[in-house]
Amino acid sequence: MIEDMFADGLVTQVEPFPETDREFSRLLDVLRPLDADALREKLVVSGWLLEPYGPDQMRCQECMYFLVHKRWCDLPELNLPAKADWWCRLWRI
Ligand code: SF4
Repeated sequence: MIEDMFADGLVTQVEPFPETDREFSRLLDVLRPLDADALREKLVVSGWLLEPYGPDQMRCQECMYFLVHKRWCDLPELNLPAKADWWCRLWRI
């Protein structure tokens, strides 16, 4: 379903990347009130991409929220299926 939305032209807000804890928390504050099924809004706000991002090629595989075996993003404010080569701007190690 996520791939379908991108195939249909979904554009997400990948910048600015939250450089500080405060900026990171602000993004979580936007995501937290969204309904569990507000998939489009979650993807847009989190800056979701179906590919690694930036010069360091950041991706879910190295993110602390990625559940490798479940292929899932365990960040409570997202709580979505994810793949190793995907990325979002809430990426953290
Ligand atoms: S927070 Fe973002 S980068 Fe990290 S696992 Fe979830 S979707 Fe991937």
